[in-house]
Amino acid sequence: MARIFAITNQKGGVGKTTTTVNLAAGLALLGKRVLLIDLDPQGNATMGSGIDKREVTHTVYHLLLDQAKLDEVVRRSDRAGYDVLAANRDLAGAEIELVDEEGREYRLRHALAAVDGRYDYVLIDCPPALNLLTVNALTAANAVIIPMQCEYYALEGLTDLVNTVKKVKAGLNPGIEIEGLLRAMFDPRNTLAQQVSDQLKGHFGAKVYDTVIPRNVRVAEAPSYGLSVMAYDKTSRGAQAYMQLAEEVVRREEGRQHGKA
Ligand code: ADP
Ligand code: MG
Repeated sequence: MARIFAITNQKGGVGKTTTTVNLAAGLALLGKRVLLIDLDPQGNATMGSGIDKREVTHTVYHLLLDQAKLDEVVRRSDRAGYDVLAANRDLAGAEIELVDEEGREYRLRHALAAVDGRYDYVLIDCPPALNLLTVNALTAANAVIIPMQCEYYALEGLTDLVNTVKKVKAGLNPGIEIEGLLRAMFDPRNTLAQQVSDQLKGHFGAKVYDTVIPRNVRVAEAPSYGLSVMAYDKTSRGAQAYMQLAEEVVRREEGRQHGKA
């Protein structure tokens, strides 16, 4: 069965899309079968996967509104080594169009029933809001990965997110858990970042990934070529960090399955 992660944080610019794309690429490089779902109307994860969002005819929007089947929407990115459910501006309308629909929170979950067995990992890139699209991701996911920047207000924002996950757990998706918190765009020379990082570990303990993603210009440059940072410059510190994260994610998953057996 695929392990489904929602990559989420209602704050914009914390590294969600960057993490989704590069973790997907890293897992693919480790030989895993990966599906990336772009659930942000900005379509940045789509573009970052080497797919032109302006040229896709079938997107995750059509899937959510029952206007297309999964197989009509899935696209292979040979360059990236994984499959993609693309998004573009169309998706911004989905929220409103779904408002009166029955089971609107379960649309993505139902659509994903068709992928069972085809992937090892499904990564959902969420929009920077706790909206119906994000709720669809949380309802479909087994667990949440939270990228964050270690800055002053970061922990405050986490409280809202953790409460949303709790609400979804109490109602829509009892199985959901927090998989991990990722320190992204980290600058170790910044003492505030160090303090926030320590607080994070104090609060979330082992949920905080050992891997830290440093601020690295290669990471920021790669998407403009439609490439992961590994494909763009595999010797960069950013590429090494994201590869290390992919390994850590797989190790945790193997540990989890071991624990169950
Ligand atoms: P979000 O999806 O949470 O809004 P993004 O992943 O789009 O955040 O990242 C926001 C910006 O920061 C982007 O321009 C991205 O290229 C840049 N960025 C993300 N991670 C890094 C990093 N480790 N080093 C340098 N720049 C980064
Ligand atoms: Mg994003």
